[in-house]
Amino acid sequence: MSIATIDPSTGQLLKSFDEMTDRQVEEVLARAAVGFDTLRTTTFADRARWMTAAADLLEVERDDVARMMTTEMGKTYASAKAEVTKCAMGCRYYAAHAERFLADEPADAAAIGAVQAYSRYHPMGPVLAVMPWNFPLWQVLRFAAPALMAGNVGLLKHASNVPQTALYLDELFRRAGFPAGAFQALMIESSAVERVLADPRVRAATLTGSEGAGRSVAAIAGQHIKKTVLELGGSDPFVVMPSADVERAAEVAAVARCQNNGQSCIAAKRFIVHTEVFDAFTDAFVARMSALRMGDPMAEETDIGPLATERGRAEVEEQVQDAVRQGARVLCGGQRPDRAGWWYPPTVVTELTPAMRMYAEEVFGPVAALHRVSSYDEAIELANGTNFGLGSNAWTRDPAEQERFATDLDAGMVFINGMTTSYPELPFGGVGNSGYGRELSAQGIREFCNLKAVWVG
Ligand code: NDP
Repeated sequence: MSIATIDPSTGQLLKSFDEMTDRQVEEVLARAAVGFDTLRTTTFADRARWMTAAADLLEVERDDVARMMTTEMGKTYASAKAEVTKCAMGCRYYAAHAERFLADEPADAAAIGAVQAYSRYHPMGPVLAVMPWNFPLWQVLRFAAPALMAGNVGLLKHASNVPQTALYLDELFRRAGFPAGAFQALMIESSAVERVLADPRVRAATLTGSEGAGRSVAAIAGQHIKKTVLELGGSDPFVVMPSADVERAAEVAAVARCQNNGQSCIAAKRFIVHTEVFDAFTDAFVARMSALRMGDPMAEETDIGPLATERGRAEVEEQVQDAVRQGARVLCGGQRPDRAGWWYPPTVVTELTPAMRMYAEEVFGPVAALHRVSSYDEAIELANGTNFGLGSNAWTRDPAEQERFATDLDAGMVFINGMTTSYPELPFGGVGNSGYGRELSAQGIREFCNLKAVWVG
């Protein structure tokens, strides 16, 4: 795919961009190396001041940035504005806490014959961030805020369909006061990633995206013995047990499935409902999914806009058609509207079998898979029955059952009686084919640090 902004609500090409030449890429890498030498010698207070200035810029420019994101990938303007606000909050969070998260950690010196012993965090250097289009600002800020606060520099290879957002980010940190080379966008296609990652000046990589992209980047990084963090999506379970507040669960379920037009790695995708509350939940859930208003993503009344890419819409459509061909039942949606752009309506599919693609694959659109189970054990078996393990949800008012879910759900995150959300205060990441490593929280800032042991005799 070439680097271009295509409005997903019309399919119209708005602007295309040239890929950087080898020489331009070299200039970026050289600036990153020099930028690292400068940034690593700055203080936490300097970096916190610049990071706070970045947050201020985001807040002032929120509406324009949000409009750009909506135009590039189709999320509703309201959700785009919320995303910008969240990014500013993430910047402020790391500006306030980075120094504490990276403070020296004393060890028991006497026990190892030392006068002094401790661990110290050092930045690693330029980190390549291969990022997706679905939260085009937040996915990047989630990496950049902790990385820059630690003294690392960032190299962004953004998804090819959000180039204007990439260029905005390229300027943001410089405008906020960070030294030249602290954060730069590489306008390259994915085929050029290998060369950048192999470059000795690049010390590590983080990728958010598909399993295929993750495997490729991790393999290249492995060859060069460079650390990676991978966040590769999931097929999160949303379990509803008999003691749940079923109405509330159904209300949240529709939001959790359709947030960001259904294109979120932590969207609830498989709804696993106990037979005692199955009919009540299904009626309420289908009513809420059917009531979502699909339309112009800029309009205030719109709940759901188009999917971001034509290929993404085709994939979702094929997954639903495959299930229907094999006997699944569609309770609402399931037919793409006859209009320009990449629309797909909120859809609920039930009576699924393991032979159907939707049963275990991630569906990156507003399509819910609905399952009936008759026990806790059956719910857990189904919930844990994919290769993914990113987020998970369980709805139950029984405290003992809440405890069991927290332990038994095989995932990086468990949310009880609420939908999975990323918070700077909590680690974010998955297990299995959802990837490894953690973003956000203290863990997130430490991922790209060299933890040096110091022993003084
Ligand atoms: P991709 O994984 O293809 O894209 C994510 C990023 O990785 C983009 O910057 C892309 O660049 C880059 N990329 C893709 N392939 C490679 C590669 N071989 N080497 C290096 N970089 C690469 O996601 P898609 O947009 O194609 O979406 C496909 C599926 O991925 C979705 O249906 C969903 O299942 C999953 N996904 C998960 C996301 C998440 O939040 N975890 C986000 C987006 C997608 P370029 O755009 O230039 O190809």
